[in-house]
Amino acid sequence: MNPQPLELIIGWLYPTLMSTYGDRGNVICLQQRAEWRGIRVQVIPLDQQTAATQIQNVDILMGGGAQDRQQEIVMRDLRGIKAETLREKIEAGTPGVFTCGAPQLLGHYYEPALGQRIEGLGLFDLVSKHPGQGAPRCIGNVVFEPTASPLAQDLEAMLVKKPVIIGFENHGGRTYLGNVQPLGRVIKGYGNNGEDGTEGAFYRNAIATYSHGPLLPKNPFLADWLIQTALKQKYQTAVSLEPLDDTLAGQARQAMFKRLAVTAP
Ligand code: GLN
Repeated sequence: MNPQPLELIIGWLYPTLMSTYGDRGNVICLQQRAEWRGIRVQVIPLDQQTAATQIQNVDILMGGGAQDRQQEIVMRDLRGIKAETLREKIEAGTPGVFTCGAPQLLGHYYEPALGQRIEGLGLFDLVSKHPGQGAPRCIGNVVFEPTASPLAQDLEAMLVKKPVIIGFENHGGRTYLGNVQPLGRVIKGYGNNGEDGTEGAFYRNAIATYSHGPLLPKNPFLADWLIQTALKQKYQTAVSLEPLDDTLAGQARQAMFKRLAVTAP
């Protein structure tokens, strides 16, 4: 008798409100890389129609970027039991990627260029502020070295070399970290605020980042880390993933390193 196939449920936060700059590509990449390994994948939207119990069943959380207006709508919906369930999932170690507007919502608050401060879930000890309408946005390709533990060590063991992440950022808000690990150290670009050299944040198994790209197709090892971490959480045993042919992704990465004059690792 065949063993039961492995299965993962990807919960996609507010797909119609939060998916700027191709963040949907993260979900496609994750699903495809899992299915290529024979893992069954279900993608469910987590939005205004979702009950908190559905959030409970999710194995990987994905949240994309959004403009200030959409962030406000999301935060009005993401309250009470829904917010609490999301908080519990992240605390329990559910892996996920939260991009740009999404981590701003997981912090204490986001102050938009115009209008009221938007209160966040306060799960990540960070705050984000837009310096005002006249202030330049942080736009461009971003390259950073992950430093957060144990993610950086896991990735180095997986790649057998120091990992480097490539993305594309476009944000007006600046993020300032409190008592939370940065995701990485900026090599090229702005990162959290263009001042302190940090990029993103890492808490439990949740990756908060300003990197669109989309992030996962450009850095497929991160998708594999998410899949592996989710399987380990769900089945309580380490599952090794068959390697895939990432020649094209590798070539795209080398082209970007060259264009940005970053020494390829
Ligand atoms: N509204 C946020 C900002 O401009 C997030 C933008 C985004 O998600 N790309 O900082």
